[in-house]
Amino acid sequence: MPLALSDGNHHTHERWKATKDKPNAWLTDKEQAALLALERRAAHRKSFRKPGERTSRRLRATYGQIARLRARAKRRAIDWQHQTTTEIARTYGVIVVEDLPITNMTKSAKGTVENPGTNVAQKTGLNHSISQEARGRTVTMLTYKVARYGGALYKVAAAGTSLRCSACGFTTPSGRESQAVFVCKNPGCGWSGNADHNAARNTLHLYRMGLALVPAAGRAVVRRARRVKPATAR
Ligand SMILES: [Zn+2]
Repeated sequence: MPLALSDGNHHTHERWKATKDKPNAWLTDKEQAALLALERRAAHRKSFRKPGERTSRRLRATYGQIARLRARAKRRAIDWQHQTTTEIARTYGVIVVEDLPITNMTKSAKGTVENPGTNVAQKTGLNHSISQEARGRTVTMLTYKVARYGGALYKVAAAGTSLRCSACGFTTPSGRESQAVFVCKNPGCGWSGNADHNAARNTLHLYRMGLALVPAAGRAVVRRARRVKPATAR
């Protein structure tokens, strides 16, 4: 889940770059090999199971080992998300993310950030390219953390942010050369750069145009109030 900010401040972790060879990229090579061996063993044991027969104890044990390794990888991913979202919430007062429709596909998400603590508008776009689940978790973390640090989270409609050139405003359906690089098709412009960075700057643009939707801060404030109550009651 790399996070791209519109000010060029990108948060990436090598581990987010999952490949076909490394489907669970948060595991070490050794752990990865162990997981693969366990999955093979499980498939092998399962092949002996007749229809309607109970799962054998040995097969269940293997499933348990697989689950523990996957849980370890997830914990590492969440740890990284916590570190990153805390840093962002501390740095910026207003965070704007793309309001994405819920799908099963892995999508790109963008957002913008501004720091209201300074007179100079220090605004930043934020982009995640993450799975739906990881993205939802990031937004949840940002929502309550931004509120904790006195900021707010906004959402803007995602439509067109990956197709518009953030340098000149020209939008073309074929604007995106690849997943990684945006190349502007406007003959008078020709700007090219990191596609996520471009989309993040477009999200910032939408926010500046006053197109930010539902501020989510209210919910976060309620959360904070809930958290405080049990502490004072004690
Ligand atoms: Zn352009």
